[in-house]
Amino acid sequence: MKYKILAIGVLLLAFAKALSPQLHAQEYFTGKYAPFDTTIPSPAQFLGYKIGEQHTRHDQIVSYFEKLAEISPRATILEYGKTHENRKLVMLTISNKNNQANLTTLKKQHLAFVDAKQQASNYNDVPVFIQLGYNVHGNEPSSSEAALLTAYTLVASQHPEIETYRDNSVIFIDPTINPDGRDRHTQWANSYKGSPLVSDNIDAEHTEMWPRGRTNHYWFDLNRDWLLAINPESRGKLDWYHEWYPNVVTDFHEMGTNSSHFFEPMLPIGSIDPIMPKENYENLNNLFAPYFSSALDEIGSFYFTKESFDGTYPGYGSSYPDLQGALALLFEQASSRGHLQDTDFGTISFPFTIRNQYTSGMATVKAAVENKATLRKYQQDFFKSAFAKATTDQAAAYEFGDPYDANRTKAFIDKLLKHRIKLYDKGNGRYIVPMQQAQKRMVQSFFETYKTYRDSVYYDASAWSVGNFYNMRYKGLTSKPTLGKEVTATDNLVQVEAVAQTEYAYLIDYDDYNTPALLAYLQREGLIVATAFKPFTAKTTSGNHDFNYGTIMLPVSRQNKDVNEVFKIITAAQQQFQVPIYAANTGFSAKGIDLGSQNFRKVDMPKALMIIGDGTSSYEAGEVWHLLDTRVHMPITKVMSNNLNRVDLSKYNTVVMVSGNYNNMSKKFKENLASWITQGNTLITSGTASSWAIQSKIATGKLTKGAKKDSTANQERKPYVNQGPNRGKERLGGAIFEVDLDLTHPLAFGYRHDKLPVYKNNNVWLQPSNNEYNTVAQYSGSPHIDGYISDRNLNEFMKKSASIVVSPKGRGRVVMFADNPNFRGSWYGTNKLFLNAIFFGSLID
Ligand SMILES: [Zn+2]
Repeated sequence: MKYKILAIGVLLLAFAKALSPQLHAQEYFTGKYAPFDTTIPSPAQFLGYKIGEQHTRHDQIVSYFEKLAEISPRATILEYGKTHENRKLVMLTISNKNNQANLTTLKKQHLAFVDAKQQASNYNDVPVFIQLGYNVHGNEPSSSEAALLTAYTLVASQHPEIETYRDNSVIFIDPTINPDGRDRHTQWANSYKGSPLVSDNIDAEHTEMWPRGRTNHYWFDLNRDWLLAINPESRGKLDWYHEWYPNVVTDFHEMGTNSSHFFEPMLPIGSIDPIMPKENYENLNNLFAPYFSSALDEIGSFYFTKESFDGTYPGYGSSYPDLQGALALLFEQASSRGHLQDTDFGTISFPFTIRNQYTSGMATVKAAVENKATLRKYQQDFFKSAFAKATTDQAAAYEFGDPYDANRTKAFIDKLLKHRIKLYDKGNGRYIVPMQQAQKRMVQSFFETYKTYRDSVYYDASAWSVGNFYNMRYKGLTSKPTLGKEVTATDNLVQVEAVAQTEYAYLIDYDDYNTPALLAYLQREGLIVATAFKPFTAKTTSGNHDFNYGTIMLPVSRQNKDVNEVFKIITAAQQQFQVPIYAANTGFSAKGIDLGSQNFRKVDMPKALMIIGDGTSSYEAGEVWHLLDTRVHMPITKVMSNNLNRVDLSKYNTVVMVSGNYNNMSKKFKENLASWITQGNTLITSGTASSWAIQSKIATGKLTKGAKKDSTANQERKPYVNQGPNRGKERLGGAIFEVDLDLTHPLAFGYRHDKLPVYKNNNVWLQPSNNEYNTVAQYSGSPHIDGYISDRNLNEFMKKSASIVVSPKGRGRVVMFADNPNFRGSWYGTNKLFLNAIFFGSLID
């Protein structure tokens, strides 16, 4: 008993000490690894303030790393990319002087274990490759500060333990995976920091403003982008990754202020991915866990494991490396978000959070060094097993491609190549991806679909068959076909015939993914264009050609520019966007409508506004912004939700509202919006904004209702502890469904097949329209393609619901998307539905 009381006393003392903000001299963090080389400045000496006293800007972190590389032969620095806002993405490589000098040789020896054809067995002779990655979520800032301390320790410590680490490992430190987001938060936290510090949770320092610093420039979550490879941060990282294939990779995060510290193993059922080898989550995680627990016990920090987090989605920083033969490790630290915050157990300080991250990082290095042979053997077996046939393989190879849309196919191939997936050109716009190859797990991630699940509550999406994102119309082959020529680059994948000059009309294929961008280009250049409401066969200068719904027609004589000027613009547009364009010298069609038909309707230039800010989903708003900026090169005015009363709507013909809560919208603006629509304009809503439009009577329409659960019936008793998991079952975290498209509707122009995969991650259920022409996309008879959905959602709601409904209003209309056509910048298959709403919205009667 006495002993027990004493133990609690010591524990509380340790806890209090750990939380004390006074104790953040250098000692507090790195004392264990003294002595240090005094010729190398500590982060505090370099920055001029103590670590944890304020938030360090990314450029200061880079400067410190550059300094280490400049003065120490143990460190070298590499710039592996630039962010959207032009911040440097850097990797600091640390090892002993000798290893640094021989890095090329060591790399070759290391990569021999990745190559299944080689039989390397010198597991213990090659230093282990460790990649410490920090701060993918910009407003989880403790980890980058820990990166400074970790780099300093590994470069400057003269402690024998650190000497051993340097001798036996090559450590790659990426201090800030998301510099744009980090600096957004850094600026905020430093600006609102009080003196003395204010720990009150409601203080502005702790309550960042929309869109907050978690995401990157376009408000993308970079911790979902490893698989999708949309942003420069991930694209640069992937190139680095596939050059080095580290054995261990870390990913540091922050979580709720009242939490403690988390290290792996994760929640077993959620994290067990059928394509991840069992040895990873069973053996390796359990091998590493004792290192973290003893390091954290030593400084009196509390932690938890196994209860939470799910590593199933392959695009996390803590899951992607698991599919590359590494051990990926997630760390989550309770956040001080700001410099000091109140918690249920006293205050939590920024230095305290930094020290925990630092401690787990150093424990990772120790564990990796002490188990380097195991890690090497594991990685070697991992890549060897990729060539073995498994009974669980869903196919021997996949065939994909859309011959009508070379640019969309090219974008998909770009993703395959980013992950070093091998593929072959079969001709006629079709490609083959064999299953047995080094990147087998990536092939599985891109193409395999699942409909049954062990668990029903997911931390994130439960479907990521990227082939469906791109509407690649792929199929699994039961035997491996003869392979064509290997595709190793995307440069020559799209080859369009240069358009000939004409004085009559240009016809632009609308099947191509890039055509909306080309259309925007022509409009910006002041050209008048029309779109075809019916298919036809035109006599072009290169013979008769079939044109589909949506074909863009440019009548040369109707332009305010002369024929040469028009040709110059058309040629430049084609060179930039690589879209098939044809010249016609006659308006008389071989079949179908002639070029002077009323079925060609003028396309007005969109003048678009999007509501952003408090209440709106920054992810969805960012996806729209990213699509229009980076692919369509079309401006959109972004207006904060608290600024709407100042908007003059007459300057716009299109308003976009993404998922969000619009209940705070003023009555005045709502009335303005409603009357603006009736004047002939287009409101585009997606996700919960569509429910809002119906509920607030901006749009006519109904939401699908399920059968009411009978509350008086005898409810089966259930254990209290299961409450949380049971309630999560009806949430649709993200899955893929098939819709049936009306290919003749302007919103579906550019589509050739009436079946299309869509992404749904909400419980918005739109009833099909009362008007028989206004349900553009309805879930098909058996819509379930990939991912988790409850029986109730599938059979009671989806069966009776539509994915896209148009609600006419006066001379205008509301285009309602139940689902998200632009999810994570990766839904090339459904982007055009959204872009059609922007470009052709005004043409819907
Ligand atoms: Zn995070």
